[in-house]
Order: sequence, then C-alpha cells, then structure tokens
Amino acid sequence: MSQLPNCPQCHSEFTYEDGSNYVCPECAHEWPQVAAEETETARVIRDANGNVLQDGDSVTVIKDLKVKGSSLVVKVGTKVKNIRLVDGDHDIDCKIDGIGAMSLKSEFVKKA
Ligand SMILES: [Zn+2]
Repeated sequence: MSQLPNCPQCHSEFTYEDGSNYVCPECAHEWPQVAAEETETARVIRDANGNVLQDGDSVTVIKDLKVKGSSLVVKVGTKVKNIRLVDGDHDIDCKIDGIGAMSLKSEFVKKA
C-alpha cells in the first residue's frame, strides 16, 4: 500500500485508488493517477545545481543569508541537516545550529 502517493492537499497517507483517480478520504480530494507523475501534484524541489531535494536531506548554504527579524546571518558553507520540504516561497524548513528553526529557499542551497 505504500506505493500510493500522499494527498497533495492535506498530505494524508490514506489515499486509495478509484478507477483512474486517487481519492483522499480525509479531505475528499480526487486527482488523476497519470497526471500525478507529471504535474506539480508531485512537486519537485531542486537545489541550485538542479539536484532533486527530499525530506531528510542535508544541504549546504551557497550564499550568506540574513535571518529575517534578527541580525544573524547564515554563512555560506553552513551545513543544514535533515531539511523538510514545504510549499511556499521559502520551500525548505530546517533547523540550523546556533540559529534555530528557519526557512530557506532551495535556490540558495546545494545538496551535501
Ligand atoms: Zn486530502
């Protein structure tokens, strides 16, 4: 059963197949099985080099990044472990030693 994708709307794991569609029992979202492979429903986030990033990956920051709302800077070369991909302008959630939880843009990191 682990072959079925999570619901793209609510990320439920309880997706099931109905004809040529996937159906989510939790939010009632339906989407076509075929298109899921090729469209944003299976959103691919890539690093600065075009490598595909996944939850749990480690990345390196390639640019000094100011931390919003503080005077801290994430220095180029900072290693970030165990990233989590999210929707939005800043598409990586992570925790950085000495700084704490923050969001990064995938275009400013590369896979370690
Ligand atoms: Zn759902």
